[in-house]
Amino acid sequence: MKSYVVNVGIALAICASVATNGVFAQQAPAKRNFEAEINTALRAAKDASEFEFLGTLARVCLLPQSGGEDTSDKPFGYIANPASAPARSTWYADPAKVFDNLYFVGGKVHSSWALTTKEGIILIETLYPYNSEELIIGGMQKLGLDPKNIKYVLISHAHGDHIGGAEMMQTRYGARIVMGGPDWDLVAKYPNRYKTMAPKRDIIATDGMTITLGEMTVTIWLTPGHTPGTLSYTFTVLDRGKPVNVAYSGGTAFNFVNNTPDPGIRNFQTYIESQRHMASKAAATGATVLLSNHSEFDNAANKNRMLAARGNGPHPYEIGADWIQRYFQVMQSCARAAQIRLEQKVVETATR
Ligand SMILES: [Zn+2]
Repeated sequence: MKSYVVNVGIALAICASVATNGVFAQQAPAKRNFEAEINTALRAAKDASEFEFLGTLARVCLLPQSGGEDTSDKPFGYIANPASAPARSTWYADPAKVFDNLYFVGGKVHSSWALTTKEGIILIETLYPYNSEELIIGGMQKLGLDPKNIKYVLISHAHGDHIGGAEMMQTRYGARIVMGGPDWDLVAKYPNRYKTMAPKRDIIATDGMTITLGEMTVTIWLTPGHTPGTLSYTFTVLDRGKPVNVAYSGGTAFNFVNNTPDPGIRNFQTYIESQRHMASKAAATGATVLLSNHSEFDNAANKNRMLAARGNGPHPYEIGADWIQRYFQVMQSCARAAQIRLEQKVVETATR
């Protein structure tokens, strides 16, 4: 859809005046109060978040946003010069058994998850090239899991902090790699950027696709917004034998969204619709756990600490269906605030 949302508003105002006057009215369309609209959206995000999703709120409502897709094909600094990779103390975290069949094998900042089944392991995310070996392979070994059993690797999106170990998983263990079509294209388009990380093109995710291994099934949902091929998931884990449904959000920051009204307004719309899509799938599956690929968004690092002291109390990751809806509401409302800013730019440019 090409037309801007703001134009819809103007069109409606014109239609209304046609209806009342029978001709195109001379008067200007009702002026929008952009500041008030932005504040309403920001307030809705803050109210939805409360204290549960402050990291997400900060990232999408408050912190500066990137201007669009990275189009350079230079290798990352840590590939060109491995000595420049961040110090281990900045990323190392202990692995943890989080549910009966779901293990955390991520770091302080980025998460990776191993879903175990009778037929092998589904790995979600592969971190950076410089820490996937220690965190994922080493973490699995510490937890008594054999990395040779990794059968599928799901990559939420083709950024260096999630795709870093994908090539290794494919070549070393023969794992099948699942990624969104547009993100497979990114990997092909920027061979230098993805040096040492790029798996050979394998499974192209589609909306509603299921990956079944043994008794477990992960359902994939296309949620373009952070990258054009971003994937999110729903699946069921077991907590001391009790089934618990998970909504996994695969991309959060406004990365490929552009700061210019075109295509920014449409990109934000795509992002908003993706969050609605995931919210409805989370509701339909009865998800009570929200997982992500950054601790910043799902609090994994803190929750793993709480889990260690759980005793007979509730599972710290199980926050209930209402909170899952609130999570996607935070993302939608922050995106709407940013979208309104671009609509304001359109009007200001037209009236200059
Ligand atoms: Zn990313």
